[in-house]
Parts: sequence; structure tokens; C-alpha cells
Amino acid sequence: MKRKKLDSELVHADRQVNLPQSGAVHEASNNSVLFHFDDVADLEAVFQGKKNGHVYSRSSSSSSVALQNILAKFESGKYATVFSTGMAAISALMFSLLKSGDHIVVSKFLFGNTRSFIDSLMRFGIDVDYIDTTKVDNLAAVVKHNTKMVFCESIANPGTQVADLKNIGDYCASNSLLFVLDNTMTPCVLLDAKAVKANLLTTSLTKYVSGHGNVLGGVVVDMGNFDWTGFDNIYDVYKNVEPDALGTTQIRKKGLRDIGATLAAQSAHLISTGLETLSMRMMKICENALKVSQFLATHNGVTKVLYPGLPEHQQHVLAKELFNGNFGGILSFELDASIDVRSFINALDMILSATHLGDNRTLILPVASTIFYENGPEQREEMGISDTLIRMSLGIENADDIIQDLTQALHM
Ligand SMILES: *Cc1c(COP(=O)(O)O)cnc(C)c1O
Repeated sequence: MKRKKLDSELVHADRQVNLPQSGAVHEASNNSVLFHFDDVADLEAVFQGKKNGHVYSRSSSSSSVALQNILAKFESGKYATVFSTGMAAISALMFSLLKSGDHIVVSKFLFGNTRSFIDSLMRFGIDVDYIDTTKVDNLAAVVKHNTKMVFCESIANPGTQVADLKNIGDYCASNSLLFVLDNTMTPCVLLDAKAVKANLLTTSLTKYVSGHGNVLGGVVVDMGNFDWTGFDNIYDVYKNVEPDALGTTQIRKKGLRDIGATLAAQSAHLISTGLETLSMRMMKICENALKVSQFLATHNGVTKVLYPGLPEHQQHVLAKELFNGNFGGILSFELDASIDVRSFINALDMILSATHLGDNRTLILPVASTIFYENGPEQREEMGISDTLIRMSLGIENADDIIQDLTQALHM
């Protein structure tokens, strides 16, 4: 069959990628924890990795595999491994692939909880350099003989800095460094992760991918473009698999099985249902973000707007190239000192004051006093987060209504 466009393929993925029985259009949720075998030799073969199958659902089940198949396909990756949350995916990946004495280079513009987790890794003997990833030269300046991994996000939150992905990918490829990209902000419909030579993707499925604020999940996608045979942290016991499966095998054993942050079957079903409308939602969200950023940029109650879609944004041209002509669904802004931030947010009617992003609903929150409170003033300044910065995650409502709501609240 001729390949359809991505938006069409997403709608039919569950029945075409996974081929559920009896004409069902969804893979059935499988809640079985255990799996029995008529011949114990088959049980042994699955345990030893000589045969495909499931033995215990903390490690795998038909439900998790069905979602993994879809996610690997849409990110053009080789293998996907799903987890209970986005943070579980990130922490499992790091714990399974790094060891004490390694050096990693990480973007200083990071999701707050990821920053907190990586700060903890330092206590386990991992050396970290935080850099400004909008310029590849900053990466080259800190790489050492023991550098194992480079980690960044595509569009940072809340500052909307866009990483120099193509150049970082080229640099990592020519220096045999593992390039891990958190593409939560720019799933497959926006970014071609293979084109920027990302080796592993981590995505919070809780955000745009599922979209409805009713399920948590995360994934690690192995893009199949990294030479794991040169990666000296692979345990001997996992060296008997195909070379391109070395990384994923270790992530599934040490990361998923041993840490145990497994995605529930019902969650996998909800995520694959959300994924069907990803393209349509994401396009509407990006369109709304652009319109609202343009509105805010011209409003005299607003002193600053951060959105890659605005021509004055420092990475505007780069973003346009990377994200298929789109600029993502997050924007941040600051109000004139004459307007009280709390009163403004409390005066909003349709827009919800809540943390979370990538939801169908437009959400707003002050960031320094909430999601980046624990990071403290020093880290916030490093990340470009002022005390009065407000973040918006655009939803799929009509842009006129979002602008109307902002207008009335700004004039209270
Ligand atoms: C939300 C988020 C995460 C963590 O995902 P959870 O599913 O909430 O654990 C990681 N990275 C980014 C960029 C995020 O926005």
C-alpha cells in the first residue's frame, strides 16, 4: 500500500501497525501480569532472549509493545521502550547507560524536574557540564575524553530557547558521542529527529502525544543510528544481541525491568488513542501560539514575549527550518510593572491557571514561584527565568476566545 501522509497514518496506526484480531481497530488492553507456556523450554527461551515473548508485565506486555511499535514507527526509530512517565524514561535511560566517572554535557535550559534529576546524578559520581545549547561551539568547548552523552531539549520551557540541533547532531556523530534529545515539545509532526542525527529520543507522552490531560507516560526511542559496539558501558551479559539492539536491551533490562516504572496497559491504550489526533491538535496549537504571541507582542501592557515564531526571537530562523515551518505551543511573557501578575491570572475566565503543558486546554502559570521555585534564584537566572515570567501552553480552543480572555484580564 502506498504510504499515506503522516496525519492519515496516525489515525490508522493502532490497527495497521499492530494488526489486532477480529477487525478491532484498537489493540486490546492486556492486564495480565503473568504469561504461561505449555512447554517450559519456551519460557526459558524468552528469558534468555532467544525468542520473543512476554514473561512478566513489569518488563513487557502486548499493550506496551503495541504502543512501542507505533511510537518507533512515527519517530522513524528502530526501537521504542515505554515507561510510566516522562521522568521515568529520562531517569531510566541515564541510570542504565551511565556510570560513575562519566562526563555528560547537558543543556542549561531544562525542564525543572530533569534539571533536579541531573543534579542528583552528580552525587552518584557523574560529572556534568551545563551549557547554552543554542550554539554548538559551547559543546565543543567542554567535551572531554570521558564524555559519554549530550542531552538537550528541542524547545526549552519556559524560555523557548531552541537548541542548535543540526550542528549538535553533526558534532556528536563525528565525535562518536551519544546524542539524547528530549523532543517532548516537538514530536514527530514538528521535528524530523533522524535528520538532526539524534540517537535517542525521550518524550513525555503525558504532554502533546496524549494531549487530553488524562494519562501519564514516557518513551525512549532508539533511532538505530548509534554504534553501540563502541559504547563501553554495555554490560557483558547484554552483549549477545544484534549490535543495534545493545542500547535498547540495556535500557529495557537495567532501566525498565530493574527500576520498574512500567506503563500500565490502560495508559498505553489512552496514549495510542490520543496519538490519533496529534497532527491536527499540534497544528492548531502552533497556529494559536503564533496568533497569541503576535497579539501579546503589540499589547502595551506586555513588556516582553518569548516565542520562536516572532521574528525578533534569537532562534527564529533556526526554529522555522527545524520544525517544519512551525514554532511550538509554548510562549512566555512579562507584564508591565503596573499590572499585578496574580490579579491578571485570577481575572482569566477560560484560560486555566495550572501546571502541565501540551493539553487541549490553554494553561497559564507564573514560573519562578511554581515549577522553578525549587531551583532557586541562581539557576533561574542561568536559565533566563525572571521573577515575573508567565508561561502559557496553548490549547486547541478558538484563538479569538483566547485573545478575548487575555484582553479582558489585561484591562481589569
Ligand atoms: C513534562 C516533561 C517531562 C516529564 O514528563 P512527565 O510525563 O511529566 O514525567 C520531561 N521533559 C519535558 C520537556 C517535559 O515537558
